[in-house]
Amino acid sequence: MSNLYFLISGLFCIVLNLVLFFSKERVDTKETKIYGYMLISSFLDVLLVIAEISICYHNFSEDTFLLLTILNKIDLIHYIVWPSLLFLYVYYITYKENIKGYLSIKNKVILTGILSAFIEIFLPIKLISQDGVMGITGYAPSFVYIVALLYILGIMAILLKNLKKIFSRKYAPLLVLCVLIVVAAIVRAVNPTLIIIPSALVYIDLIMFHTIENPDVKLIEELNLARERADRANRAKTEFLSNMSHEIRTPLNAIVGFSNSLLDDVENEKARDDAKYIINASENLLEIVNGILDISKIEANKIEIVNKNYNMEEVLDNLVALSKARLGDKPIEFRTNFSEDMPKYMYGDSSRIKQICVNLLTNSIKYTKEGYIEFKIDSVIKGDVCRLILSVEDTGIGIKEEDIDKLFEKFGRLDLEKNISIEGSGLGLAITKKLVEMMGGKIVVQSEYGKGSKFTVALDQSIVDAPEIKEEFDISTIVKHEYPGKKLLVVDDNKLNLKVAEKVLEPFQVIVETANGGDEGIEKIKNAEYDLILLDDMMPGKTGVETLKELKSTMETFKTPTIALTANAISGMREKYLVDGFDDYLAKPIEKDELKRILGKYLQDR
Ligand code: ADP
Repeated sequence: MSNLYFLISGLFCIVLNLVLFFSKERVDTKETKIYGYMLISSFLDVLLVIAEISICYHNFSEDTFLLLTILNKIDLIHYIVWPSLLFLYVYYITYKENIKGYLSIKNKVILTGILSAFIEIFLPIKLISQDGVMGITGYAPSFVYIVALLYILGIMAILLKNLKKIFSRKYAPLLVLCVLIVVAAIVRAVNPTLIIIPSALVYIDLIMFHTIENPDVKLIEELNLARERADRANRAKTEFLSNMSHEIRTPLNAIVGFSNSLLDDVENEKARDDAKYIINASENLLEIVNGILDISKIEANKIEIVNKNYNMEEVLDNLVALSKARLGDKPIEFRTNFSEDMPKYMYGDSSRIKQICVNLLTNSIKYTKEGYIEFKIDSVIKGDVCRLILSVEDTGIGIKEEDIDKLFEKFGRLDLEKNISIEGSGLGLAITKKLVEMMGGKIVVQSEYGKGSKFTVALDQSIVDAPEIKEEFDISTIVKHEYPGKKLLVVDDNKLNLKVAEKVLEPFQVIVETANGGDEGIEKIKNAEYDLILLDDMMPGKTGVETLKELKSTMETFKTPTIALTANAISGMREKYLVDGFDDYLAKPIEKDELKRILGKYLQDR
């Protein structure tokens, strides 16, 4: 009777396990399906054995002998099915995919199972009864135990082959389960009337459910994996975008450089117009590429906020001049309204503040046909902190209420029927928002569709009283743009870039020498005197930063002003290069005015 109690508690367990397993949302993997079959197989076997015991207990006679034999043979088939399922289960969680071959592992296991069951049916079985308790002996059970044992050995072989993973959450329970099966089989072999295996398998199913096959845990695992995969794909995409942007800037450098020199050299009016169109289109393309570079760096957490003392008046003058230039002859009144008590000198990242304002002002100019644009700054001072409330208000096309939420998403261009002719990448506001947040600020937007919009940014900056600000070189002090006799060295790994540099430097009448890569650059610098060095940073082999470091460490007399030249031109790069030991920084494509500034600053005799 104790067998029956065992089995009834087993039945209770397996029913609970079945309900829990099948009522939950499951991950659709091969091993989970197999586990489902294992549960069903265990459930049917427990029912079968309960029936066997009941029949045996009430009527073990000639009449029931055939029926009991058949039931026992089916029971034995379960001892082939269940271990083979466990074998497949372990195989799938270990190898995920089938070993290549004529038959898949699943088919091999099914075939072996059918063959073993077939053999088992024809092998003799002996039923024994002791005090109303039935046991079996003979070739049939012995054969089945051997087959089952082979599967268990197979499982152990897989587990031991993957010993490294064995202590993971997945494998450790399986190893314990194998031992449990063997113990159950030994007990049964020693005492054939102790019907322990069906219940043992049920408990093993239950342990598996609570360790490795819990649908909730598997779902979370699967979600984590999916998130990891998505993150990886996103990182790869960001890296790709950033590399592509860099690659695009190199040929763009050639396009802008040669178009500019065409503009200088060619008399023909039409050709000059064409050159202007090329430059204009390149500048638009450059803006898009810069946006992609910026957003990808922000997303990869590669952008830092570089705080230093700055002159707010200078920043604002710059912004106003730039906005007026961008407005051109559009019938728009440009209003400024800067708070009187705003401190002149502050401590913060002025280049990011500039970038934020430029983005907002450029948008207002782009999306406004007529009316006004007001650039306003209020300041609230508390102790030595000044809260800047910057706003840009326009009478432009406005933004639909339902679009406001999408405004700060990257690549989110809105109202395309109206905006189709306005160039943009949909990155400006995404970058702006991220930068504002990186500086601990907030950005909000108010807009009425068809009437206009107002973007407001609140940011805290520290106030500095008597700042030590290195005065910027004033471009207006340049008296001439020709420097005959001055010797320049341009170091770049790209031959086309070297040609462009020679071309853009031509009007300045300097002597230009070129070096192909860092090593050649070092060689030349060691053997000749130069007045200025333009050193590309991103070079294979030795980067610009490495080249400069080597120069400084190996040549004590090295004092030549060195300018970092790079296509990796996101804002904030200048500060980075200054920290790296460069004297200044020039972005590719080289802008004429920037080049004038650099040459004036370092070549003009003062
Ligand atoms: P871009 O201007 O390059 O398309 P942004 O991220 O700067 O990208 O802006 C996203 C979208 O928000 C724009 O495409 C435009 O539809 C809308 N938008 C931004 N600023 C304004 C504005 N001042 N007035 C109207 N719509 C605007």
